Amino acid sequence: MQSRNQRRGLNALTKNGPVVVRHLRSRGEIADALPGFAEAHVARFLATGRISNLIRPERRVFLAELAKLLSDSGWMNLSRLLVGGQPIAWNYGFQFAGTWFWYQPTFDLSLIHIFLAWTEGQQQLPSRSVLLTCDDGPRSTLTDMLPVLQELELSCLFFVTGASLRESPCMLWHEEMLLMFLTATDACRLDLAEISVAAHPAGRQEKQLLWWDLVKKLSRYDESTRRKFVEKIRVQLGLPSNWSAAYTADLAACRRFLMLNGDELHSLTAAGMCVGAHTISHPMLSQSPEELSWNEISESRRGLESVLGERVWAMAYPFGDLASVTRRELEMAERAGYKCAFLNFGGGFGAQTARFAWPRVHVVGNISLPEFEAHVSGFYRWLREGLLGEQAVTGLGG
Ligand SMILES: [Zn+2]
Repeated sequence: MQSRNQRRGLNALTKNGPVVVRHLRSRGEIADALPGFAEAHVARFLATGRISNLIRPERRVFLAELAKLLSDSGWMNLSRLLVGGQPIAWNYGFQFAGTWFWYQPTFDLSLIHIFLAWTEGQQQLPSRSVLLTCDDGPRSTLTDMLPVLQELELSCLFFVTGASLRESPCMLWHEEMLLMFLTATDACRLDLAEISVAAHPAGRQEKQLLWWDLVKKLSRYDESTRRKFVEKIRVQLGLPSNWSAAYTADLAACRRFLMLNGDELHSLTAAGMCVGAHTISHPMLSQSPEELSWNEISESRRGLESVLGERVWAMAYPFGDLASVTRRELEMAERAGYKCAFLNFGGGFGAQTARFAWPRVHVVGNISLPEFEAHVSGFYRWLREGLLGEQAVTGLGG
């Protein structure tokens, strides 16, 4: 018999797709499902400020070995509750002599998986859902953001680049270049005949304009050629090879400008956060030749999946403004196997939102509620498209 509360809970879940309980008993099925169980357990504990015993590899090995042993005798039972095909609750338990043993249960906190199922047309998105995302993957996501997210019991989708597939942390090329300009004296000169650049920028504003021009021009080249240009720029700006020591010696600057490395990325997912792709080397894709854009989009997915051992289904376009994304990139993101991809502007969310041109609203400390609402409702987008003749975001995606 179901209590009224259970019935109400079940009805609420059914809105998100069919609710099914599956009992896994065979060695193979259990081995496949155990990583998801462990991940959800760690995330649930961290969200309440506790450390799951499953954070320890020995504990996971113990559970896997125990499952093997007991599945042979038919006592093992890993139960999963699936909503719209997505597991949201697990119980690692045993059943023998007609009795169930509730050994180690857990459940998924994340709305992100419901969003994924929704993009696949498998279930409804709860009304007024909010998906939190964050780009680039600086170390501060782990040191500064994660504790806040955990305290508030929230999950976030972090878009990271190929920099996070490396063992040693590094800066993103365009940020490194900007810091170089800001570090250089006002007497600096730049002469790069190959890309038709000859300038002696004076003052912050001129430096920033030149930097943005270089971001566009250097996005035509592959990562290693781009790095060579950045090195040439350093020499011409008169900066010593250790110019960045001022940043890497400062802890706060490290957290802001150095990207997560592979190990730190694992810490993020072990804490129940979700990872999406942000290309390999963060070029302005609209400026890159076709083959380069394709590699950036498809290889970042492949690289992240092999490092994380889990599916990567979302992407955010680098820079993500109207100038850096064209219809070509939207098509590539779909062809590369993503389920959705995000821009960095816009608003007006709803069932008709183009899956590969998802708008996003920047939330900053001083944003007012009416302003936020004007973004979310699409009022600003409508204003820009209607009055300024900006290309329609939905047209870009259609
Ligand atoms: Zn970015």
